[in-house]
Amino acid sequence: MTNSDSLDDVPSPDDADRVLIGLEINMAGEKVEFKIKLPRGLATWDDLLPFMRTLIAVGSDISQEYFASRDKHVSCRAGCGICCRQRVPLAEFEAHRLRALIESMPEPRRTEVIARFRAAEQRIAELGDSISIGSDLALTMEEMSVRARKYFNLMIACPFLENESCSIYEERPLKCREYLVTSPAELCANPDSSAIVPLPLPLNVYMATLRLGNSPEDSTVRWVPLTSLMSWTDQHEPEQATRTGPELLHEFMNQLSQ
Ligand code: SF4
Repeated sequence: MTNSDSLDDVPSPDDADRVLIGLEINMAGEKVEFKIKLPRGLATWDDLLPFMRTLIAVGSDISQEYFASRDKHVSCRAGCGICCRQRVPLAEFEAHRLRALIESMPEPRRTEVIARFRAAEQRIAELGDSISIGSDLALTMEEMSVRARKYFNLMIACPFLENESCSIYEERPLKCREYLVTSPAELCANPDSSAIVPLPLPLNVYMATLRLGNSPEDSTVRWVPLTSLMSWTDQHEPEQATRTGPELLHEFMNQLSQ
């Protein structure tokens, strides 16, 4: 549960185009202060991304400390990339951001990464829609789970996975940042195992991003499977900025408290 206990709009002395906003958020019983610099005028969700990442990092630290004191430690390590064969859902703005990241890569890396995406998409297309879990499909949680399992069984490595490590670690998606486990790493080879223990986080930042743009009564979620980001961004334009930084922050905090 999130409590946005205060929201102060303070002019930043060193940047007339930006505002410095102070937030105090209740994270697992701890009140944590954040200072966020945002465009005073029109902004995009990318402008809020550093804050979203910080929320996950702070929440993860709090949770890891709590469980470490009970002798439960995160077992995720560099070089262990089995979870990078799961289908990773992206918020729509993340899909556009990652596309831009790919396009900015030097050659021949850009071409190699795009080829990996196209190969993954081709393999998924060959199986028809039996494993599709795109948010445009009306599926029950059970159906989603079955399809996610089928997808995992294909062992399609994330196109960003290199030598079993994330090659875009600093830019990895929110969902990847949130997923850590305290159970033995070898259990992750079977995602159905009830013995897998994900690290619980005080806030579900990633889920909030899937509802951005909804009206208050609309709980629909929208996402883009990471492996489909090339074709999805081919067909969808990035959202135009129509709201200010503080307005976007207000909406994000509302979704976070759902
Ligand atoms: S983006 Fe990185 S962390 Fe996320 S699934 Fe791909 S390789 Fe793994």
